Amino acid sequence: MNYSMMDRIIEHLVNSDNVLIASHINQDGDAIGSLLAIGLALNFINKKTFLFNESPIPAVYRFLPGVELVEHQIDDLHTFDTAVILDCGNLERIGKSAKAVSKIPVLINIDHHATNTGYGTCLFIDIAACSTAEIVYRIIKKMNIPISKAIATSIYTAILTDTGSFRASNTNRSAFAICEKMIDCGADPYEIAQNVYGKYSLGRIRLLNLALESIEISKNAKLSMMTITRDIIDKTGTRSEDIDGLISYAKRIKGIKVAVLIQEEKNSLKKTNGLKNFHVSLRSDGTIDVTEIALSFGGGGHFSAAGFNIETTLDKLRAIVMGFSEKI
Ligand code: 5GP
Ligand code: MN
Repeated sequence: MNYSMMDRIIEHLVNSDNVLIASHINQDGDAIGSLLAIGLALNFINKKTFLFNESPIPAVYRFLPGVELVEHQIDDLHTFDTAVILDCGNLERIGKSAKAVSKIPVLINIDHHATNTGYGTCLFIDIAACSTAEIVYRIIKKMNIPISKAIATSIYTAILTDTGSFRASNTNRSAFAICEKMIDCGADPYEIAQNVYGKYSLGRIRLLNLALESIEISKNAKLSMMTITRDIIDKTGTRSEDIDGLISYAKRIKGIKVAVLIQEEKNSLKKTNGLKNFHVSLRSDGTIDVTEIALSFGGGGHFSAAGFNIETTLDKLRAIVMGFSEKI
């Protein structure tokens, strides 16, 4: 653990007056959980904070205490002396405000992605951390800020979801140790699990059905590909956030080394040039480094879970994805 970096970050936070805290677009449990945890902790020590995420809060995370504090638009960026960027491999991951945010005098980059570009004036990157929330927890603890039930619920939710319910390869000892402490501080494992995984809309279950039907396997049986078009989303009355977690079904097939999920983005419908925007998610069984593929398309992530965005046609993309199987 990098104590000196931690001390520098704490010094900056203690000396700050007005802190912008942001995490990545299309927020997942770690992005929203880390954001709320550090935001609520800084509020406790009477810091002026602005919690920001460009995307709407996914329905499954709206139960998190303090979620109403999260803003989706920044009106006046000049007022912030400090920015804390969470779970973002590069600053552009926060969305349209990235360029303006890069001008905030103190820019603290807290992340666990292997592909982090090292942006910011003060960095805390720990790729061994199971989640960004693990690093946030260490910072809050070192600052001696008491962990309220709200903070505990955020951190527990972040770790639960970022480790794929303690199944993904980033599941480490700290994941369990911290979650145990969060339960001591008031986090309720059953209530959290029910909110995150146990209250799906019927549309989401129907989406699962169509997503499973879309699975194709490469000739060498090492790669699986799942495709979710806007048509499928519309037909099931779901939203992009409902796609979260579906790739795990493509990944858990015996013999599969790399699973790929192609997701047609919402803004594709407005396009007139015949091309569409896609997000591609990549997962590996732990023997293949999928960041190599993601980086080659301008994306990033972790060894076993990465992603990238691409503008192309669906047919071309499917051919590109199936081509990945030739290297595994
Ligand atoms: P997913 O593709 O499932 O959304 O994300 C898998 C992992 O890759 C996450 O840790 C996510 O933060 C990262 N990731 C996904 N897309 C991108 C991207 O376009 N750029 C970067 N730097 N990381 C990404
Ligand atoms: Mn994360």
